[in-house]
Amino acid sequence: MSLLEKVYTEEHRIFRDSLKKYLEKNVVPYVEEWEEAGIVPRQAWKDFGDQGFLCTWLPEEYGGSGVGFEYSIIIIEEMERTNQMGFVAPLHSDVVVPYIYSFGNEEQKRRWLPGCASGNIITAVAMTEPEAGSDLASIRTTAVKDGDDYIINGQKTFISNGILCDIVIVAALTNPDSPHSGMSLIVVEDGTPGFVKGRKLDKIGMKSQDTSELFFEDCRVPASNLLGEEGGGFKHLMEKLQQERLVSAWGSQIMAELALEYTIEFTKSRVAFGRPISRFQHNSFKLAEMATEVELGRTFIEALTLDHMEGKDIVKKVSMAKYWISEMANRIAQQGVQLHGGYGYMEEYPIARLFRDVRIQTIFAGTSEIMKLIISRMINL
Ligand SMILES: Cc1cc2nc3c(=O)[nH]c(=O)nc-3n(C[C@H](O)[C@H](O)[C@H](O)COP(=O)(O)OP(=O)(O)OC[C@H]3O[C@@H](n4cnc5c(N)ncnc54)[C@H](O)[C@@H]3O)c2cc1C
Repeated sequence: MSLLEKVYTEEHRIFRDSLKKYLEKNVVPYVEEWEEAGIVPRQAWKDFGDQGFLCTWLPEEYGGSGVGFEYSIIIIEEMERTNQMGFVAPLHSDVVVPYIYSFGNEEQKRRWLPGCASGNIITAVAMTEPEAGSDLASIRTTAVKDGDDYIINGQKTFISNGILCDIVIVAALTNPDSPHSGMSLIVVEDGTPGFVKGRKLDKIGMKSQDTSELFFEDCRVPASNLLGEEGGGFKHLMEKLQQERLVSAWGSQIMAELALEYTIEFTKSRVAFGRPISRFQHNSFKLAEMATEVELGRTFIEALTLDHMEGKDIVKKVSMAKYWISEMANRIAQQGVQLHGGYGYMEEYPIARLFRDVRIQTIFAGTSEIMKLIISRMINL
């Protein structure tokens, strides 16, 4: 029995079953359609919220169910198992909304959180700019105080949920002279004059995810939309990036597990030279290596998740998990395609979409190189 299975009760199992049934009926049949459209319909978010699957951890007074982080993990696992990365509810529920809950004042929480839980408000977080990705401190977007407002100017890119978002948490410099202590998080609502949603970017994978550019042109936002402390943005981001990396590592883990499952199933049924290809020693050893890596990933991430739930400092280990599991998932997907032969290159085989989608995992939420930078700083070199 795995570490997390020891935590799960009958209630968790019932929840997982009902979520699975929901996804089989309401997500799986539409994946192709959404990929072709390049976006997930807003109604899918609302329906998911109506079922209580968004922001489950939020206290009931803000529209959630007040349950533990392990429910978020169940949702991440089951959504990822639909083999699509367009409908990214965990980005909203477990990455963006926590900023509002942790750093928002009571008025802000009452204003936005119930909509986040119901699916009426879709969220995004905008850090990256054309000239600033890994090097977050070099962002150029500014927010200049003018009376009771901030006036935001700048450009963001690669923003997940960029087109659908009703609110976006923008990292901007309130003091351009000092990026680390002069960065602030400001909530910008869709429809605010000067907030312009740009191109939906054409990606090699995650085809139904609306990743886009965002522009702020003299965008006037009430100062009451400041989240947390003025100048505290960098610190707030560093704090919440840990859970983002954990969520991302979970995504990679499930993709690796799926790739292995698809490949075992295929290689057992595909016959060459008179026997299933899984029985050639080279292939069975390859599958044994893949299964071992997948198992290692799960053991690591479950232990790490329990640490996170206990409130331990996970910075070093989550950087290791984000780096190693995302690289491992890419290896498994690459070997999986190889073992499928030509079929692995065909869209009708699920390994093909997974292979395209998994590529981003070593890049977003902090690249593998940045993760290694963090780890190397923490091992007393
Ligand atoms: C599909 C998608 C969705 C995304 N969603 C969001 C989102 O919702 N919100 C958001 O803010 N951002 C988002 N991003 C941005 C993402 O986080 C960045 O792309 C990522 O952090 C890397 O930044 P960059 O693309 O500018 O690459 P760069 O920072 O320019 O890096 C390029 C290469 O240089 C390497 N490198 C950089 N610095 C170092 C160093 N010091 N040492 C060694 N190597 C280094 C990197 O590892 C990488 O290999 C998304 C990106 C994509 C593609």
